[in-house]
Amino acid sequence: MPPQVLKAFHEAAQSACSLQELQYAASKRIQKHTGAEMGLVTAGCSAALTLGTAAILAGSSYTKMARLPWVDDGPNEFLIAREQRNGYDHAFRAAGAQLVEVGFNEIVANAGVRRTELWEYDEAITPRTAGIIYVAGDDTHPPLRDVVKLANDRCLPIIIDAAGEVLPRSRIREIVATFADVVCFSGGKAIRGPQSTGVLCGRYEPVTSAMMQMLDMDDHPSLWSLPTDTVSHFFYQYPPRHGLGRGYKVSKEEIIALLVAMDLFFDGEYLKERPQQIAWLEQIAKSLPNSATSRLHIPSDGERFPTLEIQLDEQRLGRSAFDVCKELRSGTPRIFVGHGLLGEGKFVIHPLCLQPGHADMISARLIEELR
Ligand SMILES: *Cc1c(COP(=O)(O)O)cnc(C)c1O
Repeated sequence: MPPQVLKAFHEAAQSACSLQELQYAASKRIQKHTGAEMGLVTAGCSAALTLGTAAILAGSSYTKMARLPWVDDGPNEFLIAREQRNGYDHAFRAAGAQLVEVGFNEIVANAGVRRTELWEYDEAITPRTAGIIYVAGDDTHPPLRDVVKLANDRCLPIIIDAAGEVLPRSRIREIVATFADVVCFSGGKAIRGPQSTGVLCGRYEPVTSAMMQMLDMDDHPSLWSLPTDTVSHFFYQYPPRHGLGRGYKVSKEEIIALLVAMDLFFDGEYLKERPQQIAWLEQIAKSLPNSATSRLHIPSDGERFPTLEIQLDEQRLGRSAFDVCKELRSGTPRIFVGHGLLGEGKFVIHPLCLQPGHADMISARLIEELR
């Protein structure tokens, strides 16, 4: 977290406020940055996925909210492409969703060339279908806008996991503009808010439902009210009981800190660090001994992070990239490199968390390990 974010966190701790009003103010700010009708600060993207699913399953029904994660009086199946299944499945299932796969994973299985196709979603829709799940990425298929359009045409809600899809800064706005019902992203990744924060945004109805299922509802019904322009769209006249999302609460400090981080992020403040980050990666690249070669990758959009990919000559070193990665993690200082390509004898240096002086330390450790 940048100093301004920490300062905001600290200052927020010194005053008291209504969480409901604060979330409503946060919604305005999220609206400004994403173009969504409404937004909610959540306890991470994963929590947003659970709350978004709960919102789709229960809508504005207090009875349905009360029964979650049991859904025995309506549709509870969500379509998801088999190639998009991942460990965050739990987030959807925790709210009561049952996942129904469409398509295959033929490329990974080395059994074909085809990706998931749009008609497969269309054909799989039944009266038990409650919605569609889509995990957004650089190379997801079929394209997000096509799947959102299909969902809209078939009057099915769609929830998008866009956890890390925040760069370039126009990306979230583009996803929201497809008219997806619920879009979720992390506050603790490139936005650099508290690690435990995320955002759920999109259309009024599901975001309001998610808010109702997360906020503390311990008040006298005669005193309770939601801020006016959210209720005008829906008819929440008295508070429901605590919802499924009550255990996913966020503090006022986290909310304020995330909003400050979002301002810095969306105003392009962090991009000022990019030239320095590139210089650090170049410095590390230059210091590498002969047992490694490197490739500096600088995305041409001028926004996504530069990264340094280091290819080891494993034969010459007599050690694998896994061995080197393990040594780097246990040395002094401890260094954690990007580990997605270790199987190809490569690791990656990502500059997000680099501070002044770190590039020197990394170079020194790499020279030691790769000698
Ligand atoms: C990181 C990530 C999440 C979880 O985000 P948190 O903010 O850590 O809860 C969910 N889905 C995907 C695809 C992610 O990369």
